[in-house]
Amino acid sequence: MIKVDAAFIERVTSDPEFNATACMNCGVCTAVCPMEIELLPRKLFRYAMLGLKDKVLEHTESVYQCLLCKMCEANCGADVHIADNVRCLRGYISKEIFGL
Ligand code: SF4
Ligand code: SF4
Repeated sequence: MIKVDAAFIERVTSDPEFNATACMNCGVCTAVCPMEIELLPRKLFRYAMLGLKDKVLEHTESVYQCLLCKMCEANCGADVHIADNVRCLRGYISKEIFGL
């Protein structure tokens, strides 16, 4: 069952660094990613904005695979701050899940 976690939406979207709403799901970021990460930034950021915490946590590995190289960001037509968004998700996962 898919569960929406309102507290997760609030936590992620209230971070001033998180700016994924302009994403048009064009796929350019995926095409240029040297790690061939399929889910970042498009799907995982969308999951976060929809409060689908379990979906994000299912793909924690992708969040940590990112090199923060910004190849995707440099080619993003919507000026999504992809690396900052990834850092934001890592911050959430580190604190809430791993207790760091
Ligand atoms: S390149 Fe930018 S607008 Fe396109 S899918 Fe990626 S984050 Fe969204
Ligand atoms: S910042 Fe992360 S998602 Fe973007 S291109 Fe680099 S490795 Fe891929």
